[in-house]
Amino acid sequence: MLLVALLGLLFGPGCPDPKAEPDPLAGARSEMVERQIAARGVRDARVLHVMREVPRHLFVPPEQVSEAYEDHPLPIGSGQTISQPYVVAFMTEQLRLTGTERVLEIGTGSGYQTAVLSRLAAEVYSIEIRPELAAEAKGRLETFGAKNVEVRAADGFYGWPEAAPFDGILVTAAPETVPEPLLAQLAPGGRMVIPVGGFYQELKVIERTPDGFREKSVLPVRFVPFVGEAERHRADDVPR
Ligand code: SAH
Repeated sequence: MLLVALLGLLFGPGCPDPKAEPDPLAGARSEMVERQIAARGVRDARVLHVMREVPRHLFVPPEQVSEAYEDHPLPIGSGQTISQPYVVAFMTEQLRLTGTERVLEIGTGSGYQTAVLSRLAAEVYSIEIRPELAAEAKGRLETFGAKNVEVRAADGFYGWPEAAPFDGILVTAAPETVPEPLLAQLAPGGRMVIPVGGFYQELKVIERTPDGFREKSVLPVRFVPFVGEAERHRADDVPR
């Protein structure tokens, strides 16, 4: 039913109604936030607000637009995926952003998570290892109007030393062990959210404390592998 309604809105009669809502998918987005995100326990009001505002359908390939607000990941080309909306919201909430922070994201992908972060933090630096995805995401983020975002095509293993330290680091590809340079670039009191593992992965939240790092596992997850240099830093005891 929802699918039919969405297709109708997108491909329906080409005669725009001047009284129509400016964004015909705002309703689908609100429903996504209520049913998939708030209902599963995400509470941060700023995160919920931004998830209602950012047009996820602008970040998926044209043939996936009708599924942009469904409860699952979607293919974005080059064998990669845009994460499930709930996972984006949950990971973002873990950073506890107030609007003043400098954030590093590894795995720009579609740029959707980047767009969400751009509305919640002061500055966002995002690294994508596949140049074609980085270029597409840059274009989408410009269309979206994000002025506080920089995207770089590089191996995120090394982080972004010139912009460090970061109050938040959000990683959307899974290494088997946490890259050392990313830990080093986390500011005191800063938080990193990162999936770690092989076939089985845990989403970890790592906080930098005055005397080291405090780490907890918060959710079993399934992300694409963190490729590049991280593949030379594998764990011995991880099922792949
Ligand atoms: N946050 C993205 C999810 C993309 S999937 C979104 O909302 O669309 C994970 C992305 O991580 C893929 O685009 C993949 O190419 C990228 N990736 C994998 N290893 C990487 C690395 N070493 N450095 C930077 N990006 C990497």
